[in-house]
Amino acid sequence: MNKYFRYAQENGGQKLHLVEDFGGGEVALRALCGRKPVKRGMWRMTINVPLANACHNCLRVFRI
Ligand SMILES: [Zn+2]
Repeated sequence: MNKYFRYAQENGGQKLHLVEDFGGGEVALRALCGRKPVKRGMWRMTINVPLANACHNCLRVFRI
């Protein structure tokens, strides 16, 4: 079964982290690099295209 991922950001202007997309608007609270949105408790937004710089740690995990 394929996994789907989206880019998520905790606050505006920050790097985009890759999070698993469970469908139905549900995404993982833990990014691939281990980052969690600690301040908000949730991601500010998720998008399916990298509009800004993506987190290199997330990308490294994603490509393994
Ligand atoms: Zn990351």
